[in-house]
Amino acid sequence: MPDTLPDIEVFGQRRKPNGTFPQRGGGSGGGGLGDEGGEHQNEVGENDPPPDQIDPCADPETALPWNADAAGAAAVPKFLLKAAEIGFADAPNGVPTLLNREYGSFLVRGSGQSVETNQVTPGDVRDQTNPNWVSTLTIDPTGVTVANYQGDVHSHPNGNELPSQADWDGFMANNRAARESGRTGETFYMYIIAVSQNCGPPTVRVYQDGPRAANSPDPARPTEVGPEVNPDAQPVSNSLTCRLCAGFGLILLSASCASAYAAGEARHQTADTERWPYTQLVAENSLGHRLEISTEAGAFNHATATLNVDGQTWRVADSECPRFRAALDAFQALPPLKPGPALVLPGASAERPMPPYRPHGERWTIRAHLYAPDWSSMEVEMRGSQGPYAFWLTDTVAAIRACGPPAG
Ligand SMILES: [Zn+2]
Repeated sequence: MPDTLPDIEVFGQRRKPNGTFPQRGGGSGGGGLGDEGGEHQNEVGENDPPPDQIDPCADPETALPWNADAAGAAAVPKFLLKAAEIGFADAPNGVPTLLNREYGSFLVRGSGQSVETNQVTPGDVRDQTNPNWVSTLTIDPTGVTVANYQGDVHSHPNGNELPSQADWDGFMANNRAARESGRTGETFYMYIIAVSQNCGPPTVRVYQDGPRAANSPDPARPTEVGPEVNPDAQPVSNSLTCRLCAGFGLILLSASCASAYAAGEARHQTADTERWPYTQLVAENSLGHRLEISTEAGAFNHATATLNVDGQTWRVADSECPRFRAALDAFQALPPLKPGPALVLPGASAERPMPPYRPHGERWTIRAHLYAPDWSSMEVEMRGSQGPYAFWLTDTVAAIRACGPPAG
């Protein structure tokens, strides 16, 4: 990874340094609704063609952020519609407002470079008397897979334009799942809709992550607000007053590219925080053995083991070592683990059976991610000498050593 940030190119429908939003130039149909007209979303260089001849939809690399921005901005009227559906609590006197709770949707990639949002999830009612209130909004993932996930959009009823640390951690975890599935060349987007506290129009800000390797360290949470996205999808303009927040009858769709393109590659981004190794299981034992099992993005059901014992190193891939392959198959059959306390686990009783006991079991420390059945995950460090995971590690060390001589 480079040590410094590359020159930042501006893509999408974001406010430029001179205060204007880009408008879709050239091309055909589906023209943008930019405010100043004729400007392209990229910084314009000396040798670039005139801005009004550049169509962001003509290039996959610029079409996807253009469409993602359109979907992020178009979430505002969708959220207002949901507020209107909820009724009096969120639409007092028939005027829907986003002040009463958070709303959220996933960004979903469609065919080509198209991006949509899935259904809108409303959060719990905000306690406006409590400045420390935190929403428990849990965005419904209906229709979203690691293959079509492109990010998320959610509102902040308190007007905060920055992602919280929790927002950022969740965004990183979701992006990692997509990258692990092979989408290391893509960028993922998070839109924060900051709700005006005096009934003005909300502000839409974009934060992004990628492209980068699946096992690269996560970038730190931004401490400066992200670029402002063209609010053309918003049903109100700066000059309208509070009574016109009821814009749900005036929904506009922001400009998006209609055509399909092949997936585009993009740029690098530096990262400066280190977290649990996402694509690895790392285990160390009381004898000084260290076993690392790592995977490669998109290579499902394959892994490489790196084993260090007494200054010697083995490095084997499952495709080369049948005994390591068998160990991976055994790993897949290991039982799930539940966190305690034991007395409240299902089946706990005074007659519950004793587990098998290995008096001289090696004591292992394991770092990995634990996955729930819905594929949500938590970082975990486990320590112990007993049970199927500790036994499996000891057996796997023996299997790898039997694959052949150490590499060094
Ligand atoms: Zn948030």
